Amino acid sequence: MNNATLSVDTEIQLITSGAPGVSGSTCTPELADGPWVFDLQPAPSYGPGASMADPIPADTPRQGQLPDAYKTASKDELDARIRAAKATLGDRVVILGHFYQRDEVVQYADFVGDSFQLANAALTVPEAGAIVFCGVHFMAETADILARPEQSVILPNLAAGCSMADMADIDSVEAAWAELAEIYGTEPDADGRVPVIPVTYMNSSAALKGFCGRNGGIVCTSSNAATVLEWAFERGQRVLFFPDQHLGRNTAKAMGVPLERMPMWNPRKALGGSTIEELEDAQVILWHGFCSVHKRFSVAQIDRARETHPGVQVIVHPECPMPVVDAADAAGSTDFIVKAIAAAPAGSTFAIGTEINLVNRLANEYPQHTIFCLDDVICPCSTMYRIHPGYLAWVLEELVAGRVVNQISVADDVAVPARVALERMLAARP
Ligand code: SF4
Repeated sequence: MNNATLSVDTEIQLITSGAPGVSGSTCTPELADGPWVFDLQPAPSYGPGASMADPIPADTPRQGQLPDAYKTASKDELDARIRAAKATLGDRVVILGHFYQRDEVVQYADFVGDSFQLANAALTVPEAGAIVFCGVHFMAETADILARPEQSVILPNLAAGCSMADMADIDSVEAAWAELAEIYGTEPDADGRVPVIPVTYMNSSAALKGFCGRNGGIVCTSSNAATVLEWAFERGQRVLFFPDQHLGRNTAKAMGVPLERMPMWNPRKALGGSTIEELEDAQVILWHGFCSVHKRFSVAQIDRARETHPGVQVIVHPECPMPVVDAADAAGSTDFIVKAIAAAPAGSTFAIGTEINLVNRLANEYPQHTIFCLDDVICPCSTMYRIHPGYLAWVLEELVAGRVVNQISVADDVAVPARVALERMLAARP
């Protein structure tokens, strides 16, 4: 069957229920359950999807019980409640929907985009007292850092974290920083370059962005990582890049940094698992973090796409492992992927290596092309999955009642230096 007209959620429901004539598979049948099932488990977990096997920090935020009325409401009832609440709130609320969010939620978004596009979009509606971020925790934090003081940022499900962001916590990064200072010292070289510049990917906690702001570092996105690394190399002898090793490696390799000068820092190992010699020779020290959504893509999938679809253009996200990026025709951010598809002549064929909700949406938006996900097993981002229309209806109706629930608030001692690191990124030019 042609699944392109169905949302990912609908496909999951059909596959899991064993509907006749439905092909395809999911990485777990639990994807068909309401996310509230996982909010109530005694031990925190990322929930079903690509991150389900990742260890989760014990202190990860938990979502309290969603009122039953929102769990049992039909799709049509939730739709009516969300639209009514939105209409009542008018300009007082803005809803942001990440590219990877399910269509059943994205349909209510005032803006759809990547995390940084969305945080900036919220700045264009200063009259909105509430910013409802249908994405994950670090995105809501970034929106709060950039928002006006009188605006409240709301994450509809507090358990919507990000397994990659959780792979670098502030204590581990502070400890690594202290160890590196013992190896390199703290004095600049003859050219005035400090020993190490910390660079954090946007997909990181506010605490890490604040760390970078306090220590001469900077934030990058998957769109501007090369520009940011150039900025860092002008000011530092080497870079400590966290949390995504793949974005760091793929970007630095494309800039000509040899692989042997990119040792890994695994916070669970002494000296990060590298030798003193490797660290002394390092140009980019890569944190041992990864995205479990993008780690699923493989060179074998690319080979299969080329066999079954001669002439296919393979585009992957730079969070994919290096062999996948090397084998693809192009690699780039979600914005790059969206623009490449929009600019292609009708009749083009694309195999895409990024989150399935975005790929499926693009397939529906561009019926003149053939667009499919490299991975034929449906396995969405576990944490984006934690947002469901039921939570959106709940937070909006609470706002109508004059209550702000699930607010994400970054304290000034973190937000101020984090803003410095974000401003450095905005000022960095190719
Ligand atoms: S797709 Fe990967 S990086 Fe993005 S929110 Fe999900 S786990 Fe985090």
